[in-house]
Amino acid sequence: MKLVLATRNLGKVKELTAMISTERRHKDVQILSLQDFPDAPEVVEDGDTYQANASKKATVIADFTGLRTLADDAGLEVNALNGAPGIHSKRWAGDDVTDAVRIQKLLEAIEGVSDRGARFVAAIAIAEPINPQKPPSLQSDRVQVVIGTCEGHIINEPVGDSGFGYDPIFVPVGYDKTYAELGEEVKNRISHRSKALRSALKLL
Ligand code: IMP
Repeated sequence: MKLVLATRNLGKVKELTAMISTERRHKDVQILSLQDFPDAPEVVEDGDTYQANASKKATVIADFTGLRTLADDAGLEVNALNGAPGIHSKRWAGDDVTDAVRIQKLLEAIEGVSDRGARFVAAIAIAEPINPQKPPSLQSDRVQVVIGTCEGHIINEPVGDSGFGYDPIFVPVGYDKTYAELGEEVKNRISHRSKALRSALKLL
């Protein structure tokens, strides 16, 4: 079975491929990504929810490639910021800024605040390409979306250098190290994205 990952981010391709390959039932899945489809359209993530963004990416790319497609959308929700940056996690600190700048902005926004609670949330959508023989109204179930979350808290300064994004300041519940210190193997077992992915793979 072929499965397209709707991302150009090589780190994410690596992470999702590793997670899919460790699920015994899915060893025979041939994984492709947007690296294999250089002319695929850029999908604008303008939805109000993680689910809407993941569904849009998965259906647009499934229709472009003609193949079953998996897409994700994720973010970090901080209690003291009423759930921000949330779906805006990538652009919250401005376009084209580094992860270090994103982290700095977040730490400044909650400096001195005692409630450090936060969670990562990921939506994963799996879409089938549209069937031109069938009316679109009968194909609303061609995309399915699941959510995974990982509760934790934000520490006062970045620690660790594996992973990406806000990993160096997020400590998941049950651990005393950040995602960035725990490293790929542990993160891939407990993360928001891995939880969503496990649910999504059950749909295949
Ligand atoms: P995306 O939708 O997975 O690309 O995530 C959007 C933004 O949320 C990323 O640019 C990161 O800043 C943040 N983010 C999502 N997942 C993670 C994660 O696993 N670790 C750290 N940051 C993340």
